[in-house]
Amino acid sequence: MGAEATATTIVPSSSGTDWLARYSSSLLGVFGAPQRVLVRGSGCLVWDADGKEYLDLLGGIAVNALGHAHPFVTSVISSQLATLGHVSNFFTSPTQIALAEKLLELSNAPAGSRVFFANSGTEAVEAAFKLARRNTGTAQKPRTRIIALEGAFHGRTMGALALTAKEAYRAPFAPLPGGVVHIPFGDVGALRDAVDDTTAAVFLEPIQGEAGVRPLPAGYLKAAREATSAAGALLILDEVQTGIGRTGKWLASEDAGIVPDAVTLAKGLGGGFPIGALLTFGPDTSSLLTAGQHGTTFGGNPVATAAALATLHVLENQEVLNHVRHVGAHLRTGLTTVDGVTEIRGEGLLIGFDLDADVAPGVVTAGLEAGFIVNSPGPRIIRLAPPLILTTDQADRFLAALPALLQTAKDAQ
Ligand SMILES: *Cc1c(COP(=O)(O)O)cnc(C)c1O
Repeated sequence: MGAEATATTIVPSSSGTDWLARYSSSLLGVFGAPQRVLVRGSGCLVWDADGKEYLDLLGGIAVNALGHAHPFVTSVISSQLATLGHVSNFFTSPTQIALAEKLLELSNAPAGSRVFFANSGTEAVEAAFKLARRNTGTAQKPRTRIIALEGAFHGRTMGALALTAKEAYRAPFAPLPGGVVHIPFGDVGALRDAVDDTTAAVFLEPIQGEAGVRPLPAGYLKAAREATSAAGALLILDEVQTGIGRTGKWLASEDAGIVPDAVTLAKGLGGGFPIGALLTFGPDTSSLLTAGQHGTTFGGNPVATAAALATLHVLENQEVLNHVRHVGAHLRTGLTTVDGVTEIRGEGLLIGFDLDADVAPGVVTAGLEAGFIVNSPGPRIIRLAPPLILTTDQADRFLAALPALLQTAKDAQ
């Protein structure tokens, strides 16, 4: 085993059926049965263990921003790993510092802003939850409440789960960290009523991804900023899914005309390599968590931060965000002409569309058979979150195939 060793040196190949049998007797069943066993990817394409090719319109759920096996990102990751892979947070490294600076610059963070690195979205939210708890208020008037929205998804660890709205995810794990209140989605009046001097923070996704790509109504973020500022509560935006160019902007919230107190990032940030981040805006918010109050072993390690720097470098230098806006508009326009598609939502390459029947899971299955990976966050909702480098030709291939996928799904009902 020399320099050429790969995972296949250790793991001999097998058929999809064999792998799935082994999966079901070795992996915890929390994800249900996987749809396919994937062995290889390149750009927007992936291949399964039986050699079948798929156009990946889900991108690892908004993660593979530059597609699979991007040569520049791959090269930066492997050379960083071959130079210095992990150091613990008793130390720092140039890529960690450079990435923090880059994220503050890209998010137009005011002076005094700071970054905390984690390894996933839920960990970034967990850090934000602790930040919110440190907005304590006074002994006479403690800030005991945190507000999130109905339909919200913020992750699966206990703090993040307390912010996540879905009862089926929450109920088996009660009691969750207390004080979180869920208010109706997109209702400015309900928000104004809920936010007062007992509120520590309001958590919002600019577009609710897991709920089926539901954008907040225009003006909502502005109203949320006004209400939270007036009450002394933090406004925390969860851009784990919507950030890093997904909507054709660095942050989905960037033209809302507000400065939030904190932003969480993950999914697309490492271009497929696990990394999450909490950005705290301005000196007051950035001093809420002090030395010893939070930590992580892996968070901010040299390899993950190099992966993110490489991803941001390509997104920036190849004007990928313009491309995202263009291809996203092309896809949405194309979808308007498809029979059976009733509503199209989202921005850039985060797209949700509703169907005229409860056939979304059937469309996912028919898609796989036809060589397309899409996702159904609800019985009649399809979500697309492809690599940001999806070409218009690839988008057209999907648009051309969609009517038949819908028909197959309806016939199978
Ligand atoms: C995916 C997601 C999370 C959780 O991220 P993980 O990396 O799966 O822990 C949190 N918030 C939002 C908005 C997400 O889309």
